[in-house]
Amino acid sequence: MVPDSPLQSPPRAPYASAPRKHVVVVGAGIVGASTAWHLAKKGFDVTVVDRETPRAIADGASGGNAGLLSIGHYPLTRPGVSMRGLKWMFSRTAPLYIKPRLDRELVAWLWNFHLHCNKRHLDRCMAVLCAMGWQTLEVLEGMLAEESIDCDYARDGWLDVVMKPENMAHAEAEARSLEKFGYAWERLDGDALRRRDPCFKGDVAGAIHMKDSAHCAPNDLIAGLVRALPKHGVTVRFDSGVKGFRQARSGAVTGVLLENGEMLAADAVVLAAGVWSDALGRLAGVAIPMQGARGYHLQFDYPAVNPPPMPSTGMVLHETFVAITPMERSGQRQLRLAGTLEIGPLGEPWMRERLEMLVKGSTAYLNGLEALKPAAEWAGYRPCTSDGMPAIGGVRTKPGLFIATGHAMMGMTLGPVTGKAMAQIVAGEKPCFDVAMLDPARFN
Ligand SMILES: Cc1cc2nc3c(=O)[nH]c(=O)nc-3n(C[C@H](O)[C@H](O)[C@H](O)COP(=O)(O)OP(=O)(O)OC[C@H]3O[C@@H](n4cnc5c(N)ncnc54)[C@H](O)[C@@H]3O)c2cc1C
Repeated sequence: MVPDSPLQSPPRAPYASAPRKHVVVVGAGIVGASTAWHLAKKGFDVTVVDRETPRAIADGASGGNAGLLSIGHYPLTRPGVSMRGLKWMFSRTAPLYIKPRLDRELVAWLWNFHLHCNKRHLDRCMAVLCAMGWQTLEVLEGMLAEESIDCDYARDGWLDVVMKPENMAHAEAEARSLEKFGYAWERLDGDALRRRDPCFKGDVAGAIHMKDSAHCAPNDLIAGLVRALPKHGVTVRFDSGVKGFRQARSGAVTGVLLENGEMLAADAVVLAAGVWSDALGRLAGVAIPMQGARGYHLQFDYPAVNPPPMPSTGMVLHETFVAITPMERSGQRQLRLAGTLEIGPLGEPWMRERLEMLVKGSTAYLNGLEALKPAAEWAGYRPCTSDGMPAIGGVRTKPGLFIATGHAMMGMTLGPVTGKAMAQIVAGEKPCFDVAMLDPARFN
């Protein structure tokens, strides 16, 4: 499919005398950094602006997430989820907590979310997500190899770990539903699981091993990628918040206005500011209604002496939805417990009982958690659209403006391939997956 508002002429070769097209990318999370990397590779003159420092970017959602690169993951909009969410709405310790409040935006978001929690929509989503998923690890592996980024990346799948025997059938049915998209899986009963990974307790019924996925230390991945950008001629400007857009009378977007009052002119602007893209987009007259679904992580260090057995693979605990990822960072072996979904206004104080849910939800599954040393705690936002799918593409009514956001709980996984597709769209090429369903205009 031909994108709507590409930059008409292709980028010029480095030896051409005319100036190259200048693209400003707003946001240096995994989506913005991957987009900038691919744009630079195509010969564009790229400036990335982020309001944070390099350290804070690596501590944002693209660093603090669970680090599971789980291709073939379902979106949030699944049959039954909206009704379960409604039931959980008033419980501060439910896996999905929606802070009750009278807010027109939230009510509209919830209603649209409910309308999309059905099998037909899920099938449409999965066709797109799987097409993205199959490419994203290749794209990421190419970037990691070329930039020599050490982020403890391993393509060893992930485990759906099941405590109750009666839930094995459900886990198996989910895995089976992915077979038609080509994903490989294996059922492990409790003993086989413990032989493979002695970290699991005797009561755990078993696991489904989804074999095609990967895991990494995401803070190191995003820090390494942002560090690599200048090598390709990308200008990265930290502490540079965007507070508006320069627009021509025609509606075309021709640059961004920084918080310090500086205007950065551009031939194209890619908005990849995570959950904040909604408020920013509205300044240019484009709404991408999103809720920030906050999640938390707890990081533990393994002691050097007598460490308990460490999981060999990333996992999600089936009954409690906690994601657990082993990672080695600067020679220190660590375990990250991440999860919980909390929908509320951005920037509210942490809910500590939700942070504590991560340990409570894991101790029944894993041996030796109590022997680990707490190293860090963190909270961050998943950018969630109401139909569970990202918004990727050019904005028809605002030539020069491109959107890449809304990846919810899949952004670390799908960020690399989104970056590749976004660069193709900006260059006026056919993107590497079908973006028709992801058109940002669907919300307007
Ligand atoms: C607890 C938790 C666990 C998760 N686990 C996984 C997982 O295992 N696998 C997975 O695939 N995904 C996971 N995710 C989701 C994933 O982290 C996100 O989807 C992804 O990081 C979003 O990336 P992004 O680049 O869109 O946004 P961000 O990483 O949020 O980056 C946006 C950037 O925009 C900048 N910005 C914002 N406003 C402005 C402005 N006005 N001017 C300039 N810059 C601005 C911000 O500073 C930020 O650096 C998880 C998320 C959470 C919270």
